[in-house]
Amino acid sequence: MLIERLEEYFQREERVRVRDYFYVSEVAKCPRQIFYSAKGFPRPPLDGQTARKLAVGDAAHQRIVQALYGMGVVVAAEAPIPENPLFHGRADVIVSLEGKNYVVEIKTVHPYNFEQMATAPRRDHYLQLQLYLHYFDIPQGLILAENKANQELREFLVERNEEEIRRVLTTFESLRRLIFVEGKLPPLPDKSDWEFDQCRYCPYVAFCQENLAVPPGEKATSSPSPEEVEQEPLGLFEIWK
Ligand code: SF4
Repeated sequence: MLIERLEEYFQREERVRVRDYFYVSEVAKCPRQIFYSAKGFPRPPLDGQTARKLAVGDAAHQRIVQALYGMGVVVAAEAPIPENPLFHGRADVIVSLEGKNYVVEIKTVHPYNFEQMATAPRRDHYLQLQLYLHYFDIPQGLILAENKANQELREFLVERNEEEIRRVLTTFESLRRLIFVEGKLPPLPDKSDWEFDQCRYCPYVAFCQENLAVPPGEKATSSPSPEEVEQEPLGLFEIWK
C-alpha cells in the first residue's frame, strides 16, 4: 500500500555538477571517481532506501549540533573553508572548550565500522579533519563518531599533522593538473590499501571499465591512448597507500 509510494517519494535523481575543484570529503576517494564526478558524468538515481539512510545521518548531525548549541560551546557551524584553488568544503562545527578552538567532524557510522574504530579513527575521516585544521589554522580537532545502531558515541582527539597535510596537498595539486588542466582520466589506482572496496559502491563502474574520459554523448577533442590512461603520474597516489 504505502511502501511503493514511499520508495518513489524518497528516490531522487543525483545532481550532476561540472566543477574544477575538489571537495574535502573526497580526500580518500578513488581518483577516477573524483574525475567522473567533477566532469559531470551521469549517476544512477538514488534509490529510496539509500536516500532514507542519508536522511538518518543528516538528522543525527543536526541533533548533535543542536546539543552543542545548547551547551553554549559552538563558535561556528557548517563553516566554509577559506577560498583556495584546490578544495571546497564545510566543517561540521567548530567548538570552544576551555579556551581552545576545536574543529569537530561528526560521523554517523555503521556498527561494523564503529567496532573497527575502537582505537583509532578511519583514515578518510582523519584526513578530512587534517584539511579543516589546515584551512582554519586550528591546531586540534575532534572526530565524533555515532554508532548508527545504538547512538553510542566515540571521540578521537586529533592534532594537526603538517606532514600529512603537505602530502595531501601535493597529491591533490598533481591530481588538479591531471584532471582540470590536462583533462586526463587518472590511471586505475592501487586498491591494495583501501579501507573498503570503493568499486563495489561506485556509480561509475561502467565508464571506468571502458576507460571513458568524456561523458556519453559528448565528443572527445582527442581520445586518450591506453598508454595515456595507464601512465601513473609521479607521487599521485601517495595518500591512498
Ligand atoms: S570502478 Fe573502482 S577504480 Fe573505477 S572509478 Fe569506480 S572506484 Fe574507481
